[in-house]
Amino acid sequence: MNKISVRNLTKIYGSHPDRALALLYKGLSNEEIRKQTRQVVGVKNIDFSVAAGESFVIMGLSGSGKSTLLRCINCLIKATTGEILIDGEDITQMSSKQLTQVRREKMAMVFQRFALLPHRTILDNVAYGLEVSSVPKPKRYEQAMQALEMVGLKGWEDYRPNNLSGGMQQRVGIARALATNPDILLMDEPFSALDPLIRQEMQDELMELQKKLQKTIIFITHDLDEALKIGDRIALMKDGEIVQMGTPEDILLSPATEYVARFVENVDRSKALTAATVMVKPRSVVYPKDGPMTALRVMEKHGMSTLFVTDRVGKMIGYIRAEDASEEASRGERQLDAIIQRDMPLAAPDTPLCDLLEVLAHTKVPVAVVDEQEILKGVLVRGSVIAGLAGGGGEIKLESDTSHSNR
Ligand code: ADP
Ligand code: MG
Repeated sequence: MNKISVRNLTKIYGSHPDRALALLYKGLSNEEIRKQTRQVVGVKNIDFSVAAGESFVIMGLSGSGKSTLLRCINCLIKATTGEILIDGEDITQMSSKQLTQVRREKMAMVFQRFALLPHRTILDNVAYGLEVSSVPKPKRYEQAMQALEMVGLKGWEDYRPNNLSGGMQQRVGIARALATNPDILLMDEPFSALDPLIRQEMQDELMELQKKLQKTIIFITHDLDEALKIGDRIALMKDGEIVQMGTPEDILLSPATEYVARFVENVDRSKALTAATVMVKPRSVVYPKDGPMTALRVMEKHGMSTLFVTDRVGKMIGYIRAEDASEEASRGERQLDAIIQRDMPLAAPDTPLCDLLEVLAHTKVPVAVVDEQEILKGVLVRGSVIAGLAGGGGEIKLESDTSHSNR
């Protein structure tokens, strides 16, 4: 089930939203509506869902309605029309008592300007959400300490916010959000005030945390690179509307409108695309205990000339060639060990494509994409990589790519 579903959400700022709504339904622009009614369209007709554990990024220029959308979800402001379902329950229909409970128990917010209380210690800042929920002191300090540890700030609990650098202050902001152990993190341009290098560091740390914690995240940014890095999916907003929604590669490879295209054209494709965004799923692998006959059959079935070998948990061991397997089989061998090639090109999921082109140009073997534990995640075949760079989204088939490609 979706963790968050937003259906047909519209927010009009002002005391006479009805007139503005009527004009909105007639198709008038936000500007015309503002002129005629003095009401401001914050967001209009927003529809999307976020799955549990997903990182959903909302991107758009200043004034496009990103914060309005988040504030509606967070119940800081009231939607004019539409539904917002959290775990299947429509929060726009809740009493204020129910709302408070949902806000305290299920979600937490991280702001751009950290919003720390200057006269409180770091520990008391982190414990703040628990304090307003009347969690007893020992318990809230325990949870706050755990959250501080998660963001790498153990030892800083007695300091005040102004003793900390910007990056550290935002770690406190994240710890404060995590302390109440919410399912949902709402992050409104959390890293926009940070220097570029610190910002990248914070992005990496958030990704690491997310691997462990699997929160449902809505993350707002106006930076495309940040969006591509953090989002499982990205929604692009303009004038209060979502103009495109999709995976990072959907957005990069086939921008839906002129507006999205202009956003995207500043990103050098070979830099923005990573191994993970263009890899395909390996069709099949074999285990070392499988014999050459098994391997041959698999290769025949899928029309591949090479086959990856992994252990049972998916850790990459090497690859075998069809001709070696065939020779080994004809000699009556039952083990693959002797013919496993262990010297092969590997890439980490986040390797930028520009760094991979060299390797791809010179290798005859498909490049295996493996994570830090050397678990096989995917395979790079030249066709999909070139298609990615060309930006057409179409597939260019090369002769040597029949091995392993599953497209
Ligand atoms: P973003 O976060 O993408 O910069 P916002 O959600 O803050 O955009 O703003 C969307 C639109 O709503 C803008 O036109 C903005 O001027 C207007 N707006 C935002 N907050 C208010 C408010 N409290 N009262 C009136 N208009 C507002
Ligand atoms: Mg904003």
